[in-house]
Amino acid sequence: MVRYQLEARGITDPRVLDAMRKVPRHLFVPPERVHDAYSDHALPIGEGQTISQPYMVALMTQLLQPAPSHRVLEIGTGSGYQAAILAALADEVVTVEREEVLSQRAQEVLRSLGYRNITFVVGDGSEGYPPLAPYDGIIVTAGAPFVPTPLVDQLAPGGRLVIPVGHRYEQVLTVVYKDEQGRIHISEHGYCVFVPLIGKHGWRSEIDGEWEPEGIV
Ligand code: SAM
Repeated sequence: MVRYQLEARGITDPRVLDAMRKVPRHLFVPPERVHDAYSDHALPIGEGQTISQPYMVALMTQLLQPAPSHRVLEIGTGSGYQAAILAALADEVVTVEREEVLSQRAQEVLRSLGYRNITFVVGDGSEGYPPLAPYDGIIVTAGAPFVPTPLVDQLAPGGRLVIPVGHRYEQVLTVVYKDEQGRIHISEHGYCVFVPLIGKHGWRSEIDGEWEPEGIV
């Protein structure tokens, strides 16, 4: 997986590659999908949700640039796999999931693997998680119609927000960088396809074409 899906496609950060080598992805997929756990695609995890493709997890993590001293916020716990990768690279991970059953399942796996630096929150992550803000990095693993303003507000100076932004079925992987003076810089890193971010600052529902018109992109 690491050699052919990640290194061959330009993932170069040695810390990211190391974390991708170490976290046992097969423990984060349903039992009937274990044989497919290291394949080059997303997989269903129940509740209509997915564990992202390994390459997308690695690319988003590389763009986030997590450091050992960082507090990172993840929106969309899903299986807990991305949270495990982040927990290996940052000091503290706060992960928010709107589907309680998914959060519970992820908590069981991550606790059984011995992770102690992850805080689990059930709720609408499009609002971020103000009690533990600011964050050195924020990663959104669901597609948003706009960049949610609360997430930019909860970013520390020098922090990065990595988020898929765009249409319902195709987004642009976007990085919002807040410099030390608080100025915002936006860069784009290719197309991607994520399940929708549903919430106050995301899509309003599963229905096509409805969104909360707030945000900066
Ligand atoms: N990071 C996950 C992993 O490693 O398995 C994959 C996440 S999956 C592609 C997207 C997740 O975002 C889903 O579990 C979905 O329920 C969740 N989600 C969607 N809207 C959300 C919101 N407003 N707040 C929190 N979670 C949300």
